This record gives sequence, structure tokens and C-alpha cells, in this order.
Amino acid sequence: TYIVNDACISCKYTDCVEVCPVDCFYEGENMLVIHPDECIDCGVCEPECPADAIRPDTEPDMDKWVEFNRKYSEKW
Ligand code: SF4
Repeated sequence: TYIVNDACISCKYTDCVEVCPVDCFYEGENMLVIHPDECIDCGVCEPECPADAIRPDTEPDMDKWVEFNRKYSEKW
């Protein structure tokens, strides 16, 4: 899965949301999040992000970001 990190805070671009084929972006408190179970790992959103805030969860120390994205995407 891919996740959004805090580089997204206050970003005004929603290019990532537009390209996602499964609409798994959600509005968090002050940033976007990705629902980790809905993301199909296609990767098309990553290069769209001007803040470099979308990262694969295969990078080190991503557990807290996966949980953060899950928490804010399941409110909806
Ligand atoms: Fe959506 Fe693909 Fe990005 Fe996952 S990797 S959030 S499915 S565009």
C-alpha cells in the first residue's frame, strides 16, 4: 500500500486524488490520507504529488504512517 505523510499538510493540490483508479484518498484533519486496505498499490499517485508526500509502505519505519492513514480514512 501507499500512504500519505505530513509533507501533505496544507498542500493545495489534489492531483493524486484525480488519478487514483479506486478512489481511496480521504480527507484527514489537515491533510489527505490513503485507506491502506483500499489502495491497490498501483503507484500512479506517487509521481503526481508535488510535496513528495506519497510513499510506499515498504520504506523503513512506515508502520506509524500506515496506522495514521487508516485511522483518518476509516472515519468516513
Ligand atoms: Fe490510489 Fe494507486 Fe495511489 Fe493506491 S497507489 S492510492 S490505488 S493511485
